[in-house]
Amino acid sequence: MIAGVETGGTKVICAAATADAPDAPVLTRRFPTTGPEETIGRIRAFLDEAAADGPLEALGVASFGPVDAAPGSPRFGWVTDTPKAGWSGTDLLGAVRPDGLPAAFVSDVTGAAIGELRYGAGRGASSVAYATIGTGVGVGLIVDGRPLGGDGWPELGHLLVRRHPEDRYPGRCPFHGDCLEGLTAGPAVLDRWGVDASSFPDDVRGTALDVLASYIAQLAYTVMLTTGAERMVLGGGVTQAPGLLERVRAALPGLARGYGPAALTTAAPADVLVPPVLEASGLIGALALAADLVRPGVSS
Ligand code: ADP
Ligand code: ZN
Repeated sequence: MIAGVETGGTKVICAAATADAPDAPVLTRRFPTTGPEETIGRIRAFLDEAAADGPLEALGVASFGPVDAAPGSPRFGWVTDTPKAGWSGTDLLGAVRPDGLPAAFVSDVTGAAIGELRYGAGRGASSVAYATIGTGVGVGLIVDGRPLGGDGWPELGHLLVRRHPEDRYPGRCPFHGDCLEGLTAGPAVLDRWGVDASSFPDDVRGTALDVLASYIAQLAYTVMLTTGAERMVLGGGVTQAPGLLERVRAALPGLARGYGPAALTTAAPADVLVPPVLEASGLIGALALAADLVRPGVSS
């Protein structure tokens, strides 16, 4: 058996699976993300529960960030400088990992990219990006099958974007104001328009969705210019807004103007920008990484 843990800004999902079917958890537990001490205690309790029927062989953790995911770094496995109360400088992997258990650690969105590439919307592609537009904005990147990540990067949620001419909102990122996250994350939508992106009144909806789509399309274009990703999975609460994904797709050709990698110039935007397929992409990615430690290559 292997175990996977996805810690999100609001909730944690833990699961156990067999190493040859990391996409089919046999035991799953969910609980809210509270302070580090309580949350770590509940993850450890889950790992004890999962090990009751036989020892665990590996653990995968996909965590909200920013994280240090650079193997060999002194802070590998840490949540580093997060605005999330109490969590800055938490050695998450060190605290949850049972002694001697082989373990992998990535950001939540890197885990989600791995999960979707192996078992979901990214199947058949070798380069995939996963972006969440939710409480925050984050992006996980896999290039030629290799997840990209180190100490504090990628952090494309803080991409600096060209402003939409009709958007006067100053943004609410505590570092940058009007970076991508400061303009498009759920709290910015609520602050700017007074409702979430699924509930815009009729007189606001068109412009508001175009404003959000213009920024998200800039992210997609930047990611594709940088990584050549054949597919970009757009998840997170804000992307559930009816019509938003279609508007992002519609905005992309106007930004690219025919310039860029094949995914942009030859494929239809509907084949490139897609919603997630998995219900818990990051968790499945964490389990897939754990499975790789037990039986390298089995799930790739
Ligand atoms: P998290 O990022 O915390 O893991 P979500 O991806 O669900 O969680 O994002 C939560 C944010 O998304 C909230 O700010 C909320 O306002 C917004 N949101 C959640 N559901 C929807 C929806 N159906 N339509 C538009 N916005 C939503
Ligand atoms: Zn920012």
